Amino acid sequence: MPASVNIRGPDMQPPTERTKIICGEFLLLVIVVTLAATACGLWFFRSYGEGVMVPALGFTVAVALASALPYLAYLALRVSSLYADNDGLMRAATTDRLTGVLNRQGFERRFRSHLRMLLGDTDKGLMVLIVDADHFKRINDRLGHPVGDIALKKIAGTLAKLTRDSDAVGRLGGEEFVISLPCGNSEQGEKVAERLRKAINRHYVGSGTNGTQLSVSIGGVFLRSPQPFERIYEAADANLYKSKQTGRNRTTITSIAAHGRGRLRGLDGAGAGQDMPAAMPAPGGR
Ligand code: GH3
Ligand code: MG
Ligand code: MG
Repeated sequence: MPASVNIRGPDMQPPTERTKIICGEFLLLVIVVTLAATACGLWFFRSYGEGVMVPALGFTVAVALASALPYLAYLALRVSSLYADNDGLMRAATTDRLTGVLNRQGFERRFRSHLRMLLGDTDKGLMVLIVDADHFKRINDRLGHPVGDIALKKIAGTLAKLTRDSDAVGRLGGEEFVISLPCGNSEQGEKVAERLRKAINRHYVGSGTNGTQLSVSIGGVFLRSPQPFERIYEAADANLYKSKQTGRNRTTITSIAAHGRGRLRGLDGAGAGQDMPAAMPAPGGR
């Protein structure tokens, strides 16, 4: 896994928090059991008089509480190590092995939490970007598959480095990446998209005359209300197709209005000012 990529797992409570919750529940259980033991002791020893009952009850409570401590320490140790193992497995299951960003499953998980945020916060919107490497087959053909892999790691590393921890960066497959970034308005998301595109365009792979500059095309959709991912993907992919068709190394963004029509806006002059319906057309197939 490349060290340069900031690995972001799906949203989870940290292991220490979850261990604290379990230990808290265990302590509550100890208190309930101790109270129950005290009630039983009261009932059992009441006929022996106060001289027997008080030390007997004291002994019952002391033993219950004292024996809980080593159990608690053991439980905390075991639970935190199990949680750490579990988090490792979860990270492996949701991370793309080559690039270190989220895989499709990990991305979908994080994306669902972004959609839930849209329901709760009417001021927030979501920008979803599909980022596809340009002429990637040529890079593989000319420089070899291992150099192609290095290019993919550079692209993923740049996407992860220039986005926030709360954003989701995933690899959908091949040389195609997806980003979900909560933002206040479409312009903010467009700025991020352009920043990413330009940063990737500063990278080279290969050496000497064989070296080649990397570039990506981006198709994006800005939304203010939750939509099925398939629909968002279809719209973003249609915009990606426009970016490819109009010369590559560019960004095309569509805003989907919550109700009614959306507005198509192309950066770098692609498709500026055109209107399109909120129900997006299927991509033309690249
Ligand atoms: P366009 O600009 O239209 O997107 O052209 P492209 O060449 O990037 O697109 P195309 O779909 O023709 O080729 C994608 C290439 O990506 C083909 C495939 O071999 C390569 N690829 C997919 N996954 C990997 C991978 O994990 N490592 C490497 N090195 N190459 C990969
Ligand atoms: Mg490509
Ligand atoms: Mg592709």
